[in-house]
This record gives sequence, structure tokens and C-alpha cells, in this order.
Amino acid sequence: MAEANYNPYENAQKQFDDIAESLNLDAGMREFLRQPMMELHFTIPVKMDDGTTKTFNAFRMKHNTARGPAKGGIRFHPHETADTVRALATWMTWKCATVDIPLGGGKGGIICDPPSLSQNELERLCRGYVRKIWTQIGHEMDIPAPDVGSNAQCMLWMMDEYETITAGHYPGVITGKPVGMGGSLGRKEATGYGCIYVLKDLLRVINCPIGSTTASIQGFGNVAEHAAHMYTNLGGKVIAVSCWNQADSKAYTFKKADGCDISELTEIKDQYGSIDKDKAIALGYEMLPGDAWISQDVDILIPCALENQITPSVFPSISKQVKIILEGANGPTTPDCDPLIKDRGIILLPDFLANAGGVTCSYFEQVQNNMNYYWGKDEVLEKLEYAMVKAFRAVYDVAQEKNVYMRDAAYIIAINRVADAVKLRGWL
Ligand code: GLU
Repeated sequence: MAEANYNPYENAQKQFDDIAESLNLDAGMREFLRQPMMELHFTIPVKMDDGTTKTFNAFRMKHNTARGPAKGGIRFHPHETADTVRALATWMTWKCATVDIPLGGGKGGIICDPPSLSQNELERLCRGYVRKIWTQIGHEMDIPAPDVGSNAQCMLWMMDEYETITAGHYPGVITGKPVGMGGSLGRKEATGYGCIYVLKDLLRVINCPIGSTTASIQGFGNVAEHAAHMYTNLGGKVIAVSCWNQADSKAYTFKKADGCDISELTEIKDQYGSIDKDKAIALGYEMLPGDAWISQDVDILIPCALENQITPSVFPSISKQVKIILEGANGPTTPDCDPLIKDRGIILLPDFLANAGGVTCSYFEQVQNNMNYYWGKDEVLEKLEYAMVKAFRAVYDVAQEKNVYMRDAAYIIAINRVADAVKLRGWL
């Protein structure tokens, strides 16, 4: 669980303020870039299967659109808050700028618990979301996508609702759609694979064969599953995977010291990333407490769950063997933990670089939608790897040149790009 006393929006603003100070960004620009440009807060009444009506609270925010339309997922989570959405929208701006795609930053959220909703209720919720914000989205304005708790089916219901209201075909209004319905091949794998493309290039640069490394992963949703698949296919060994168990309302870590079989774990997980604990035990996995993933003797930690997981209070439990933290989740490390990671000499691949594969592939999806011509999977993944490696090298070079932590290097690149676009447009 995330530590309750951390506010992701304050974290995002603190990270921004520190870099803005070091870049000597003028006060007007700082004031503009440290908050979203537009926020929508609204309610969605949904008729439940039992005949009652439930009202869900929801958000859609645009952090910055100077480099292009706002882009970012919609998170369906019981602990969603306006501040979490503000932070995630801000990080999307930096993410799109870091991988240099012509999009801005946005994010949405619905306070709900998807596993407790029937498919019909979920469909009504998705359609209700679009009915409330359809005037504010569109391929030229703001393009939602999946995030924690939402999936391709949700995106398709949303697209269908938008097209029903506007009486046209606009597949580019939303990304992460099912393949064959405007979705891109490779989109499902893109975020996880993107993390490993970046890791692979880092390991090449530091001369460390991937086949000699071990990793421990937090989460087993879409990002973690595909990252784990590609990492193990390249020869890495995943020692432990921790994930949330819906039935018990707590997390467990599943461990196999000689390496987890990711295909086997994928087969025994549900659509929300919960691994069936009885089946895992029957397959010979050791079941440990949820937070045990962080204290494993491995080379690489891959947090792929939620924000605020790596904090000063858990930092001492990180094994001295850990050399790399690869942030698959958004905001998994709190700003007060960054100095500790830096001091210990752990190399950190920051979230808005490492997990940018999803939005990069969403951009490819939009390009394909606009052309109404669809690429093969190899073509998508080749373009994705090129974009991720290019972004990684730019960040790595700035980090080396200025002797800074990679998160700071990514911020320097992203903030400069966005601030330049704001200035060129004459907004400030
Ligand atoms: N939700 C993903 C992210 O945080 C993907 C966003 C998108 O594809 O627009 O990057």
C-alpha cells in the first residue's frame, strides 16, 4: 500500500520546482507549468444491476497542451483523488516531451473499484464518463487511454459512446482500443516492453549482460506482465513478483529463487493482475508478505504498481545487491527517497522515461487511425524500440554531461522542450 502521508501532486510539484530552480526558469513560467491548465470534476450517475443508482466521482485534467493535444490514461481506482490525477497529468506532459512525441499531458480518473462492478455496470460507467466530457475530448484536443483498472474494452465503449453522440467515426478520439477496432498491434505490450528496451540499452552501456541479472517486480498488471515476459525472454531471471489479492484485500509476494515462470504466472492471474495464491503455492512458489518484493537480493527492482512505494522508511530494506531501479509505475519513488538512491549509487531509470512506451504506442495508434492503414506488429515494435532507445540515450547523455541523476536529466530535457513550446506560442 502507498504511504498515506505522501501526496503525489506535491511530489510532482517538488520535482518540478527543484529542476525549475536549477534551470533558472522565470517565475511566470514556473507558476504556469506547476499546475494543470484545465480541470474537470464531475459526477456520473450509473444504474446498477440491482435497480439502485450509484453516483461516481470522476476527473479529466489537461496539464499542458503547448506541444500538442493532451494525452493520458483514465485510471479506475477506489483511492483516486483530484491530486493524484493532477500529478499524473503533469507527469504525462513530461513523458510525452521526453520521448519527443507531439502531444501534451492529460489524465483522467474515476473513483471506483472495477472488480466489484459487473460488465454491464462498467459499460454504463464508461459511457457515462464520455457523456460528461465529450465536448472536451477529441483527437485534436485531448485523447484518453487505458491506465490502472481500465482496459481495451473500456476504451471501445468510450469510443462508441463518442461516435454515437457525434454521429461519425473518430477512432483517434481514444487509444488502447482492441486490435481490429482501431487499436494498434503491440499497444498491450508497449509499456512493459518499453521499460525493457530502456533497461537493455542501459545494461549495454554499463557493460552488464542481461542474462547475468536478476529482478524483483512489484505488480502483475499489464505493465509488469509484459516487462517480465520480455526481460525473461532476453535471459534475465525474475526472482519475485508481488501483487494485490482482491479476495484478501492485501498483497503477497510470490517467490521462486531459481526464477519465476512468467507464462505460468500469467495463466493463473485474473484480469486485474491478482495471482491465484493456491495455484501459485501448488506450482511451488513461496508466498511471502506483499512488501517482501523490495528486500530481495536481486540486481534490479521493477516497481510496476502505484505511486509512493519506495520511501525513506522502506529504503533500508533494499538489498545492497540492487544496482538498478526501473520505474514501470508512475511516481513509485517519493522525492525524499531520491537522495538516498543517489547516495547509494543505484542507477534509477525514471518513470516518465521508462514507462513512456505505452503513450508512444498510443501515438502510433493515432497515426494509424488517421491514415486508416495499420502496421504489422514487428513494424510497431521496431518503431517503439527506436523511440525508447533514442529517448534513453538523450537522457543518459545529459546525465553524464551534467553529472546529474537520470530523473533530473529527464526533467531538464522535458521542461526545456515544454517551456520552449510555451514561449514560441507566445503564451508567456
Ligand atoms: N496510461 C499510460 C501512461 O501513464 C498510457 C497513456 C496513453 O497511452 O495515453 O503512460
